[in-house]
Amino acid sequence: MSDFSKHKFGTKAIHAGADPDPSTGAIMTPIFQTSTYVQQSPGVNKGYGYARGKNPTREALQKNIAALENGKHCVCFSSGMGATDAVMRMLRPGDEVITGDDLYGGSYRMFTKIYENYGIKFHFINLTDVENIKKYINKNTKLIWAETPTNPTMQIIDIEACSKIAKANNLILAVDNTFASPYLQNPLALGADIVMHSVTKYLGGHSDVVMGALVMNDDKLHEQIYFILNSCGANPGPMDCFLVMRGIKTLHLRMERHCFNGKKIAEFLKTHPKIEKIYWPGFTDHPNHQIAKKQMRDFGGMISIVLKGASIEDTFKIASSFKVFSLAESLGGVESLINHPATMTHASIPKAEREKAGVVDNLLRLSVGVEDVEDLIEDLKQALA
Ligand SMILES: *Cc1c(COP(=O)(O)O)cnc(C)c1O
Repeated sequence: MSDFSKHKFGTKAIHAGADPDPSTGAIMTPIFQTSTYVQQSPGVNKGYGYARGKNPTREALQKNIAALENGKHCVCFSSGMGATDAVMRMLRPGDEVITGDDLYGGSYRMFTKIYENYGIKFHFINLTDVENIKKYINKNTKLIWAETPTNPTMQIIDIEACSKIAKANNLILAVDNTFASPYLQNPLALGADIVMHSVTKYLGGHSDVVMGALVMNDDKLHEQIYFILNSCGANPGPMDCFLVMRGIKTLHLRMERHCFNGKKIAEFLKTHPKIEKIYWPGFTDHPNHQIAKKQMRDFGGMISIVLKGASIEDTFKIASSFKVFSLAESLGGVESLINHPATMTHASIPKAEREKAGVVDNLLRLSVGVEDVEDLIEDLKQALA
């Protein structure tokens, strides 16, 4: 296995984990579409027993994602929620978790509708003020779950500051790095213990796979997470692993363009008369801009806008009148998407909670793709008109 740990991001994206197949020289990692492996004698095998536990295509992808996060270990799951679920399964009844008040809707749903039933307590607090965290730590606290940038209001949480508090109190810090992707932000380097990705988004990048991943340095933590994967079975299939490896080969190119287009569109929308508010961490007047500058390489292509004086009907009308942007959940693919969080991605959060976090009925979220930015701006112009 060649070592690409000293290489730069784009080289790692293309080569890490992707050694030519030793049996044929095939440059692309084969899709090992198999459920089991033949043993020489009982218990004697080539390191592979049954494909829930291990699959060579998955292992190649895991090495690749670990390299992109400068991490030692990666475990892939059948979805981002599968990955999040594996972290929660490390907890016991009575344990407490401190997390943000602006979370991916599915994470909020899992925490409140599944894990609260198992006796785990969640504190949903404003993590942009890290001092706030200290007030909620007690002897039962085990985990801080942070998402940054947050979805959809693009708050930025200071990962390094969170990690100092986590370390001082012997807590695990897990960071949902989906919105940033490993190209823009590497939480392990900032002191996080676990990085979670919805691989479905920027890593896959082509809106054709649902997958999740956890990356960590600690061997014990990896052992625990792998045990959960193998015991509970949220493993991804080999075909999906192959597609994601193929997607990642252009991650650095796509991200450059997402960032370029994102900036142009954010600047266009900022002065548009129909926009009341815009959330994008690249603006110097964004409340957490300095932290974004410190911990991210660029500001990405995720932008949320609040439409001035628009009723929910007006908002629906605008959301439905795009020609290049598609109205859909999800993000991070090559094609531009528009989403109405209140009724789509964040519908599982009660209205009052949602509005407290700024997810109002006239908010739209844009996932800016890698099309030609002039066409995207024209599309926004006509839809807003
Ligand atoms: C999509 C998403 C998830 C969930 O991932 P799936 O792959 O859809 O299960 C978690 N966190 C964030 C920030 C997401 O955008």
